[in-house]
Amino acid sequence: MALKIHIKDLVVVDSNESEGLYHFVATLTDNTKCRLIYSKKPDWELIGVNRLLTVPCPICRKDYYCNCMSKHAAEFENEIKEKGLITI
Ligand SMILES: [Zn+2]
Repeated sequence: MALKIHIKDLVVVDSNESEGLYHFVATLTDNTKCRLIYSKKPDWELIGVNRLLTVPCPICRKDYYCNCMSKHAAEFENEIKEKGLITI
């Protein structure tokens, strides 16, 4: 199913600079929250997307773990790149 990713907020929640690992929480316009795991060596690369279980999945409507967001990892990455959301 198609889903257009619209991120309205992106915050750093955890980082390990020596490892080049950064965890962000992205809030989408529909209030879905996802944890994004990035590596920076030295370029930013999205290596994981996990939906937080705050609201049901906008794609499959499950309120427990699913893999829908992982399938949209490229869209998250593009959206973040286009909007320049990473400012650290
Ligand atoms: Zn899902």
